[in-house]
Amino acid sequence: MLVSNLFIPTRRDDPADAEVVSHKLLVRAGYMRMLARGIYTFLPLGRRVIRKIESIIREEMDRAGAQEILMPAVQPAELWQESGRWEFYGPELLRFQDRKGSDFCFGPTHEEVITDLVRGDVRSYKQLPINLYQIQSKFRDEIRPRAGLMRGREFVMKDAYSFDVSPEAAAVSYEKMRVAYVAICERMGFEFRAVEADTGNIGGSLSHEFQVLAQSGEDLMVACDHCGYAANVEKAELSPVGGDEERVARGTLTRVETPGTRTVAEVTAFLGVRDTDLVKTIVFLADNEPVAVLVRGDYEANEIKVKAFTGAKEVVFAGEATVHQVTGAPVGFAGPVGLGCRVLADHSVAGLTDFVCGGNEKDLHLRDVNFTDFEVEAFADLRKAVDGDACPRCDEGKLRTYRGIEVGHIFYLGTKYSEAMGLTFQDENSKVKPVEMGCYGIGVTRMMAAVIEQNHDDNGICWPMPMAPYQVWLLTLGRMTDELAAAGQKLHDDLVAAGVEVVFDDRNDKPGVKFKDADLIGVPLRLTLGARGLKEGKVELKWRTDSEFTTIDLDTAAQHVAGLVREAMA
Ligand code: ATP
Ligand code: MG
Repeated sequence: MLVSNLFIPTRRDDPADAEVVSHKLLVRAGYMRMLARGIYTFLPLGRRVIRKIESIIREEMDRAGAQEILMPAVQPAELWQESGRWEFYGPELLRFQDRKGSDFCFGPTHEEVITDLVRGDVRSYKQLPINLYQIQSKFRDEIRPRAGLMRGREFVMKDAYSFDVSPEAAAVSYEKMRVAYVAICERMGFEFRAVEADTGNIGGSLSHEFQVLAQSGEDLMVACDHCGYAANVEKAELSPVGGDEERVARGTLTRVETPGTRTVAEVTAFLGVRDTDLVKTIVFLADNEPVAVLVRGDYEANEIKVKAFTGAKEVVFAGEATVHQVTGAPVGFAGPVGLGCRVLADHSVAGLTDFVCGGNEKDLHLRDVNFTDFEVEAFADLRKAVDGDACPRCDEGKLRTYRGIEVGHIFYLGTKYSEAMGLTFQDENSKVKPVEMGCYGIGVTRMMAAVIEQNHDDNGICWPMPMAPYQVWLLTLGRMTDELAAAGQKLHDDLVAAGVEVVFDDRNDKPGVKFKDADLIGVPLRLTLGARGLKEGKVELKWRTDSEFTTIDLDTAAQHVAGLVREAMA
């Protein structure tokens, strides 16, 4: 392909709203354009990258025995009412009506549609297992679409669903997907971790997130520096530390005025104490019942663990009004003494004596508080993990925190949808049972952004060969003579004949402009042909990530480069 014939509109300036490097580079290098918040058009270069990522995913899904289908993006409300999610999903679900006034939504995910599909045709254990997948656009009306493709509203997802006769068989299907996801992430060249993730109300450990390590990631995870344990911070189990020793109280409870101090930093500074001497009281609503959770001042309460402990369907931080109602004070002054709701305590506070906490009155805190001053229903693991926490799986390791981009998520669903929607089968003994399901997602467009987050420099994108839009970028130096144009065209044609995806920058522009565009667009191999090289029968070869070039013979350049491309694709 010739640059003069391609639509690659590069720009000099970053988009105004761009926060992360992948967003900036994808727009500047001419891969995509924004249509509306979180909604993008992919230009020819972007479309090529998506296709390459999709084919890596397809190959590995097919290898794992999954079969590709394509479901509609528009879904009738009735199915969502059957599963109960029409009520539950909230404003992320884009809902609309057809001309007859029937309710529909644009699919954010496809559990309902696939369950409906399979229940129509599966009757017997003989038809199972099945794993069906699709690659398709999803819509989620995200509250904060940000960071370009990392959190879009319309985005491309690969979603797969497995159907099995038993939890044991479902675990086998799950494991096949886990292996396929590892293979996909490896072929993408990612530095990544498969981390244990929250399974919601199902329990068990059959949920993994595939996290690409990146400072710009929204997710926080921990990994042991000694063994292979890795988990989302929200999920990471923590063993109780301390708290077994006898507590010896020294002081007695005292009220202290703390005008205008609400945060841990403000209170500890005002009272001249450490944050480890303070107990934070966080009020949650667990299925609309207030529950207070105590954690040490330097830790954060974890709503996911509160949800697991209380067995509630939904746990959210209580809003200002509820906090006022429960504590009698504005936010910032909650404390366990005299509190009229359930009080749970994280293990981190179990060993404390004579601590500081809120006084349930505006501008009031309490000092020298002890566990004899109030009732705790239970001590449990209720906080988020932090860097340096002991590993729950091995004796020696410490947990280290990492930021990550969740590019994939695999999940054992159990019979949640099959029971709600009547997807059953007959087993060998003609007994009717609900089908065991799993679901497996990959953010295709998010993956594209994640590749760039891990592969760029100050000048632009540095695509790994397997998902680069083209493999070789050929350009000529200096004034474009007929001779140079002909030699460039011949090398281009030879490369194409050798099976290489090549772009020839045939523009009569200054070398600076051409080099800049080549670096910005980020194709892995660059060939530079100049008048002098042409005379000597030589062409310069440079990898995008190297600073030095080598000189190769023009006669054999195409074969040589084709060999390098093949090597880099493997
Ligand atoms: P997140 O916690 O990031 O919102 P999720 O748990 O909602 O993700 P899933 O429902 O498991 O995500 O979707 C499967 C995959 O789809 C995710 O692993 C992610 O890679 C991708 N994905 C989810 N939401 C978005 C989005 N708004 N933009 C781009 N990709 C997304
Ligand atoms: Mg989400």
